[in-house]
Amino acid sequence: MRFLITAGPTREHLDPVRFLSNRSSGKMGYALAEAARAHGPVTLVSGPVSLPVPSGVEFVPVVSAAEMAEAVLRHYAEADVVIMAAAVCDFRPKHVAAHKRKKQTMERSLELEPTPDILAELGRRKTRQVLVGFALETENLEASAEEKLRRKNLDWIVANEARALDAATNTVTIIGADGTRESLPELPKRDAAVAILERVLPRRR
Ligand code: C5P
Repeated sequence: MRFLITAGPTREHLDPVRFLSNRSSGKMGYALAEAARAHGPVTLVSGPVSLPVPSGVEFVPVVSAAEMAEAVLRHYAEADVVIMAAAVCDFRPKHVAAHKRKKQTMERSLELEPTPDILAELGRRKTRQVLVGFALETENLEASAEEKLRRKNLDWIVANEARALDAATNTVTIIGADGTRESLPELPKRDAAVAILERVLPRRR
């Protein structure tokens, strides 16, 4: 069974030194990659984080949502289980400057454009893959997770609260396209990763 796992934030640069990003640490995705190694080869596509690269995985570092999309789509055909734990930025600056923008002349508002929704694209292209997404909201978490599960054609979605960001533990609810729903207690991310894999791994391939 081959795994494709994403982790960390993306960075959307407006010039060579400034970017938009978010608080994702990559800990959940790295824990999933480490737990998945016991079940088969793992490709880990990671945004910029300060965690050591796990041993025994194919590691693909990326910076932006566009780079993550390219890397994920390149590895999608051979994957059996795909887990999108990355906190992909939803928007990026429309214009990227080649040189550092000058404070004196910089505009006061940024024009943004949407990034590609990688997971939605994977849902459209799904053949045999088990597709797992993550959902993080500060309100209406489970309802919005379920809506994403359907809209993006996922098999599973893991709902986690915003306090999971950069934390050592996570409290997740795992929702299946088959209507199953299971809330786990607060667990170290390593244990949450094992529990998530236990639920989403297909019984036989
Ligand atoms: O729609 P929302 O961003 O809340 O969905 C979260 C899920 O979608 C996560 O699994 C995330 O990795 C994925 N995603 C993506 N591409 C984006 C935004 C989110 O793959 N541009």
